[in-house]
Amino acid sequence: MGFVSIAKRARSRSSWLCGCGQRLEADEDGRLCDQVVSHLKRDHQTAYINYQVAREMVTSRAYKMEYAVVYKNGTSPDEEFGPEPY
Ligand SMILES: [Zn+2]
Repeated sequence: MGFVSIAKRARSRSSWLCGCGQRLEADEDGRLCDQVVSHLKRDHQTAYINYQVAREMVTSRAYKMEYAVVYKNGTSPDEEFGPEPY
């Protein structure tokens, strides 16, 4: 009888792929939300993030546009404008 719950547990591992390519994994959705929150706060300085928002992102497997700003770090689409014309 015990093995049923064990099998169920093994399948409940969930993961979430961040916009920056970072993959977050956890045994349950609740912990995954925690990881999403701390990752966004620490690595993306996302102030508005909280458990509620993270949960939405995890369940819908999506992330809000606002924090796609992360690409500013790496590749900039267009170079900085040159010096002002004198
Ligand atoms: Zn990220």
